[in-house]
Amino acid sequence: MGEMSIPFALDPHGREVPIKEAIRFKTNYYTCPECEKIVNPRKGEKRQYFAHKQGELEEVECELSSDQDVERMVDELRTSDVEQEESQNLIRTYVGEQPGGSHRLFGVIPSIDRDQLPPGTDVDDLIDQCEIPSTVGIKHPPTPRSFHPSEPEVIFELDPQADRYQLSFSGPGLVSNLDGEWTTGLLQDGDLFVGDQTRARRFTSNRQVKNGEWVYIVTDSNPPDHNQVVSVHSLGEWTLLAFPARPETENLLEDYGTGLRADDYGFEADVLLPADAHPTADKPIIASPRATVLIAVTPAEELDPVFEIVSIPKREGDTVELDQTGPGNTRFYKTTVPQQGSKRISVHQRNSSRHRLIHLHADDQDTESIPDQLVDAEIGLLYSDGETETIVSPIGDQNCLKIESEVSPVSLPSAIEYHGPAGLEVEVTAYFPDSHSEAPFIRRSPGSLESVLPNVGHWVTQGCKEAEFTFDGLGSVALQFTQNMESATGGGDQ
Ligand SMILES: [Zn+2]
Repeated sequence: MGEMSIPFALDPHGREVPIKEAIRFKTNYYTCPECEKIVNPRKGEKRQYFAHKQGELEEVECELSSDQDVERMVDELRTSDVEQEESQNLIRTYVGEQPGGSHRLFGVIPSIDRDQLPPGTDVDDLIDQCEIPSTVGIKHPPTPRSFHPSEPEVIFELDPQADRYQLSFSGPGLVSNLDGEWTTGLLQDGDLFVGDQTRARRFTSNRQVKNGEWVYIVTDSNPPDHNQVVSVHSLGEWTLLAFPARPETENLLEDYGTGLRADDYGFEADVLLPADAHPTADKPIIASPRATVLIAVTPAEELDPVFEIVSIPKREGDTVELDQTGPGNTRFYKTTVPQQGSKRISVHQRNSSRHRLIHLHADDQDTESIPDQLVDAEIGLLYSDGETETIVSPIGDQNCLKIESEVSPVSLPSAIEYHGPAGLEVEVTAYFPDSHSEAPFIRRSPGSLESVLPNVGHWVTQGCKEAEFTFDGLGSVALQFTQNMESATGGGDQ
């Protein structure tokens, strides 16, 4: 049997370690995710993989005996935690502060996914055929109406003192994925919730915590006399310790949170557009139908993993692979809010169980959907000649603009305006004719557009024909300056 190349292994804590993050000389440390026997990292120039330790497979059979087996395992990891939980009818469970300062425990299950309904389905009629025969431990039970696709999710308050949680749903075949008994585990001493103050999700697996995230710990003992970093609340008869994950709260994570670590977070997924999107990835982002969504995915320092966008539920052939942009560098994924209802995607680091949920939901109050040409207008350069405004966008239809000769170069810096999320870096390259001393081009390293704009007018007076603006990871736009403009003042360089 040949040597199977396994893309990830488990460390002694049971965490998946992609081969790229494995320590090269650590032998007899990692184990096979399938047969649990020792695998060692092989990190060559060309190929990197884990392989079973020699001789290990003489006594046991490992299921990973072909490329297809490995591919199947890699694909299983692609299914998001959210989808896995929902397929087992598990209620996602959260705590959060409510107006007035008290805390509540609440559950979330998906509403009806509009995408799974055939076109022309009478949704109201469908809802009429749905029932919630019983609930246990739920304070204000949802109604079938709560499952309408125009609702981003079904959300309900849970009684922290309940001895069982259950929501039964029954409906016609079209919504069979929701059918059955939805449950979640009872609160327990040591339960951990991670997110922000309005919405922190309970984690049962060894999720990593990012510095700055808000952590809630459920306890039934008297809270120790902690420093001012920890605030103490009540949740029914339980005590809730709340604190931000920071270096000084690391010891609390160790004391209470088995498997929770603030280092080695994996990656960050931030929603840059719509600009007012809530930073909690877990919370549905409600925005105008078809509005541009821009997601920035940043790996841990020094790592350049492959990220994938996986739909929820995962569909065959639907996975999008993001281009690698170098160790620690941000990559961008652009999509749109659906025309109606919800779209849920998961940002996934390949060969790991790391997933981040992004839930987009069309605002049904906003009946006017955004016309095509404006969809991408939220990022780019806005050029105004005093009468008309033109957007050139690296992600839109128009990415090049010719500026006529009658425009005075001096006025250019004030005529060009940056549109887009704050902090996005722009690299500018100015091209010159061969005769120019700066030919063929000058390049300004990435920075804010404001810092390079004053140069643009100057370059044009020196004969610059074209300025290219590269938006970090997104693409470029070009401004072209016509001949007259160049010759008007460019003579000095001859
Ligand atoms: Zn094995």
